[in-house]
Amino acid sequence: MDLKYVQTTCPYCGTGCSFNLVVKDGKVVGTQPYKRSPVNEGKVCPKGTYAHEFVNSPDRLTKPLIKKDGKFVEATWDEAYDLIAQKFKSYKPDEIACLSSARVSNEENYLLMKLARGVFKTRHVDHCARLCHASTVAGLAASFGSGAMTNSILDIAESKCVFVIGSNTFEQHPLIGRKIVQAKLNGAKVIVFDPRYTPTAKQADLYASFYSGTDVAILNCLMGEIIRNGWEDKEWVSKRAKGYEELKATVLKDDYLPENVEKISGIPAADLKTAAEWIGNAESTALLYSMGITQHTVGVDNVKSTANLQMLTGNIGKRGGGVNALRGQNNVQGACDMGCLPVVFTGYQKVIDEAVHKKFADAWGFPDGICEPKNGYEVTVMFNVLTDNPGELKAMYIMGENPMLSDPDLTHAEHALEQLEFLVVQDIFLTETAQHADVVLPASCYAEKEGTQTSTERRVQMWRTAQDPPGEAKVDWQILCEVAAAMGYAAQFPYQSAEEIFNEIAKVTPSYAGMNYERLNRPEALHWPCPSVDHPGTPILHIGKCSHPDGMGVMHPIEWKPPAEVPDAEYPYILTTGRCIWHWHTGSMTRRSETLDNEVPTGWIEINTEDAKELGIANKEMVRASSRRGSVEVEAKVTDEIKKGVMFMPFHFAECAANVLTNNALDPIAKIPEFKACAVKVEKI
Ligand code: SF4
Repeated sequence: MDLKYVQTTCPYCGTGCSFNLVVKDGKVVGTQPYKRSPVNEGKVCPKGTYAHEFVNSPDRLTKPLIKKDGKFVEATWDEAYDLIAQKFKSYKPDEIACLSSARVSNEENYLLMKLARGVFKTRHVDHCARLCHASTVAGLAASFGSGAMTNSILDIAESKCVFVIGSNTFEQHPLIGRKIVQAKLNGAKVIVFDPRYTPTAKQADLYASFYSGTDVAILNCLMGEIIRNGWEDKEWVSKRAKGYEELKATVLKDDYLPENVEKISGIPAADLKTAAEWIGNAESTALLYSMGITQHTVGVDNVKSTANLQMLTGNIGKRGGGVNALRGQNNVQGACDMGCLPVVFTGYQKVIDEAVHKKFADAWGFPDGICEPKNGYEVTVMFNVLTDNPGELKAMYIMGENPMLSDPDLTHAEHALEQLEFLVVQDIFLTETAQHADVVLPASCYAEKEGTQTSTERRVQMWRTAQDPPGEAKVDWQILCEVAAAMGYAAQFPYQSAEEIFNEIAKVTPSYAGMNYERLNRPEALHWPCPSVDHPGTPILHIGKCSHPDGMGVMHPIEWKPPAEVPDAEYPYILTTGRCIWHWHTGSMTRRSETLDNEVPTGWIEINTEDAKELGIANKEMVRASSRRGSVEVEAKVTDEIKKGVMFMPFHFAECAANVLTNNALDPIAKIPEFKACAVKVEKI
């Protein structure tokens, strides 16, 4: 028996836990602790514990598929590449759109971006950050000049006060949740504001539930209380921030007095005052948020408000402080860093900057140039263009994304995909999206390749190869090189290893310039920015100065606006959506993990006990949940752990898909949809 242990990084959430894959006779069969990672110190959550189970699922794609007469037939790689090249050559550049993936490596995201802009020459490349943290990238960049989590995961344990708003950390980033416990054991006060009494809320010294979509009112109220009581950090504000007077004038309005915000948010005025006192007087406060803040039509406003609070209290560029935006997927930070966004190349270098455009055109050496120096469409805009302006976009290349379950208003998403003349999907399973494809390319999972991913704290970590992809499936970066070659650009995609691709990334990306595989192979890896090979990396951003050219932080006065759709007589409840600890996003991996699927085999809707009584609904009864966009039948979970008037559904489950109900209304800047608030009704079936 051949047995080995291969250290790698978890493929699920953005925490970036390390573990060993147990490999028996060339196949991954289990996971084992790897204790040298400073992030998780050998511990993992249930998803990490069973991260081997989907790898050799019988559902894995093993051969290319081409759709003929509405049915998939197996094809050779050459047949698939020939068809892709023939079709993509027939379209004009901006008739093509590409979606990259937060589940593949940095190297693969970089190559998909290069394929889009260099080979297809389209401006339209994006990925699922649009659906989770696009508002973080825009909001924190406007506030600090850099759109990423400011502090490190280890730093959270050093906080004297932890304020969690819009994050169920204990279920979605459990090993970051452990740092909250460590902070609490060190004497920190923990404040959790959330519409649900989550496992995170159960750790709180102060918990309050609120109506989804009232975050700006709450944060303005806290800032007003802090200023009225003189608890702001006057030195930080005077030396390091711009815009204080405008912010002060806004948050001191009567609208944001605790008694008035109690009416808007449902949080008792006394709790708002206590939270302000704890945050305002703590030696350091770490603010943690996730998609409860970002997935709103005011997502950017919400993010800027968290930044305002942390600047006001001097918690930027400080140990134990920071705006800790917890990114969802394992490599969503890396996919953004690699320029899989419609406005930037790698390292957030702007597409519309002529000098940047020339730099990439020169570095890549395409004889016929690259895409125009113009911004492209965001995912959500691509889908709206498909339905609203038929014929403008004709072909799409999707790598490792499943918009047919992850996008808002799935009826609209399906209608959009049906407008495409040609769709290629590169994935490891025949997902709900792949079923709509004309060509499906069988790809590789994290256990089958070397590469890097960048966790929520900007730590760049290694994946290592534990087994081969199944059947004829291939490693994603090799597929992208072969597609480029089929299109006539083999010379621009000459890579023999992931390391060669990474070295090219480091050359064109200032924030990754000091990184290489030798340095990243160390257990602690490196946080970006890491501008030179002798630089130690940057666990905490903005020490001494922010990343704007003048070094100043920018405070933004923000007024509260309600969600795009609010309850009314016809649809009287607010629906909010999210995840559970056992499953991951659209379930393509976790629902093929026997243990995880056994724990939670299907979805549910959480209904407050009083609401359920009024509706005559008992626990575990099947109900029909409806919004203006559609209906699903789903099991009721009657509980006191959700606020009256608010309901919750996880979005993992195709058979009761929460996103049939959600609203495709977008934040005007980040173009992120409002997953966290729409109006629904619920009836007994
Ligand atoms: Fe994986 Fe996240 Fe769990 Fe760590 S906390 S084991 S990264 S899912």
